[in-house]
Amino acid sequence: MSCGFQDPSPEEMLQIKHELDTYKSKRYHNKRVFNPQTDGDITIQVYFHIFISDDGDGDIEDEVIQQQMGILNDAFAGIVSSSSSTFEECNYKIPILGERKVFKYGDTVVTPFRFELVDTIRTKSDDAFYLSDTESKPLRKQMRRGDCATLNVYTGELRNTCGFSNSPRSCSYGDLTKPAGSHDSVVLDHRCFLGGSNREKNEGDVFVHEVGHWLGLSHTFSSSCSDHNHGDGVYDTPVHRMDTGRCGVPFNTCPFHEGKDPVHNYMSYSADCCTYTFTEGQVERMILNAELNRGLKYDSNIHI
Ligand SMILES: [Zn+2]
Repeated sequence: MSCGFQDPSPEEMLQIKHELDTYKSKRYHNKRVFNPQTDGDITIQVYFHIFISDDGDGDIEDEVIQQQMGILNDAFAGIVSSSSSTFEECNYKIPILGERKVFKYGDTVVTPFRFELVDTIRTKSDDAFYLSDTESKPLRKQMRRGDCATLNVYTGELRNTCGFSNSPRSCSYGDLTKPAGSHDSVVLDHRCFLGGSNREKNEGDVFVHEVGHWLGLSHTFSSSCSDHNHGDGVYDTPVHRMDTGRCGVPFNTCPFHEGKDPVHNYMSYSADCCTYTFTEGQVERMILNAELNRGLKYDSNIHI
């Protein structure tokens, strides 16, 4: 799939790193940020805005939205969703380059994020439904609920992309006393939603990926093979080239840098059946962003 999220430039990455590092040293004295055994949850309220075309395209049943919320919560709780393909099925789905070796679902990490569906609002209108057209944007802005801590999701139809989102920093611009940026949201094409018609992208992981951006993550391949600032700003995601498809064999598309491509990471472009985890470095980055730029409350102990 492609995703419409704009990864920050190297200069912006440095600025973000500086802000997060400063915050981490102040709040956590540079110690470990998260311990799933002792720390509380960060609960995020979610509003779903389902846009339906005048012809009735794009409606998503409440039951499917509930299941999609379950997949989101599982992903952030470190659980490989039961609705995920088996790895044999995944291998069948993406036999790119003739590779048919199987991969195994490996370790996952737990995050403190939990998501609570507050309301689902359906709107039947072509103007809203065609999300890439200029008419849709003001309608989305008008419908947005809550502040920077509130996740608004819009579904409809996009051109050439499964979804997009914005960074936490571009909601608050460092000042949480101001109203949330009205563009702040996750936007999804209904065909890449759980059960949609996009064969590689219909197991619910596109939503997980876009929420990752919304909480401050870049694509794992965002700097390709150059490792300025660890590429995506996260220490434990090896740099790699944008690649899709290959899942079965460990490989390294940047041979001058250590580490196999993180093809199982939600923030890569792998097919849904291949992705099942974040990394600890990504979890820390999401927590720091959530507190600093979204004002989300977190009951954390200070760790050693
Ligand atoms: Zn993306």
